[in-house]
Amino acid sequence: MTDEAPKIPERDHRELSFAVPCTSCEAWTERRIGPRGTALPTSVTCGACGTPRPLDLPGHVDGEGALDGCPACGYHTLCIQKDVNPKLGVAIVVVVFAAMLLAGLTIPQLVVGLVVLAVADWLLMAAVVKRFLLCYRCKAQFRGFPPGPRCRPFDLATWEAHDPPAGEPP
Ligand SMILES: [Zn+2]
Ligand SMILES: [Zn+2]
Repeated sequence: MTDEAPKIPERDHRELSFAVPCTSCEAWTERRIGPRGTALPTSVTCGACGTPRPLDLPGHVDGEGALDGCPACGYHTLCIQKDVNPKLGVAIVVVVFAAMLLAGLTIPQLVVGLVVLAVADWLLMAAVVKRFLLCYRCKAQFRGFPPGPRCRPFDLATWEAHDPPAGEPP
C-alpha cells in the first residue's frame, strides 16, 4: 500500500454535491453544494422525514479541496467509484438506431451505422466517465471532491466487510 493519493481526471464533477442516507427513515437525501470554493455545509436535513444529520464537511476537506474520511459517519477510508450512467448510453443508441431505420437505410448501411454508433458510444462513455467518493460504512456519496490521501480504489472485500446499504442509493 502506498501513501500516494490515486489520481482522478480534472474534468470530474465541477459542482460539489453529496448524497447521504437518513439515520432515521433510511431515505436518501441529495444536495448540491455548488462550485469549488462554496461554503461547505455542516449538516443535512432529510428530505423525507426532516431529521437533521450532522455532516462535518469542513473538517474533512483540506486546503486544496480534497476530501478524506467520511463527513457523515467519520469512517476513515472513502473508496473511489466510477460514476457512469448506463441508461444515457443506451438511450442514445436506441434513438440513433430508430432514426437510421426511419431514414430507410439498407441493411449494409445499417450495419456500418451500428459499428460507428458502437465506437461513438464507447468514446463518449470513456470521455464522460466520472468518479465519486463513497463511504464504505454509511454509503454516503460525495461528488466533485478530489480524493484525499486515505481514499482507495473500490475494494469488494472491504465493502462486504461492512453492512449492506440502507435503502437504494439515488
Ligand atoms: Zn429521514
Ligand atoms: Zn460514512
